[in-house]
Amino acid sequence: MPVPRRRHGRSRQGKDRSQKQIKAVNTVPCETCGQQKLAHRVCQNCGEYKKTKVKKVETKS
Ligand SMILES: [Zn+2]
Repeated sequence: MPVPRRRHGRSRQGKDRSQKQIKAVNTVPCETCGQQKLAHRVCQNCGEYKKTKVKKVETKS
């Protein structure tokens, strides 16, 4: 039974690898405290989402 020598050519291999790098996550400033946070997520600094308190945040004292 014949066996292919390689799956893809070098050109296609390079195109595949060009998309493989790690990309930076998208952050937006929090509306309440201004700290950078993940988009569409609760702020880890103040625990608010769309200016409403969602989560209790422990403050270091
Ligand atoms: Zn915040």
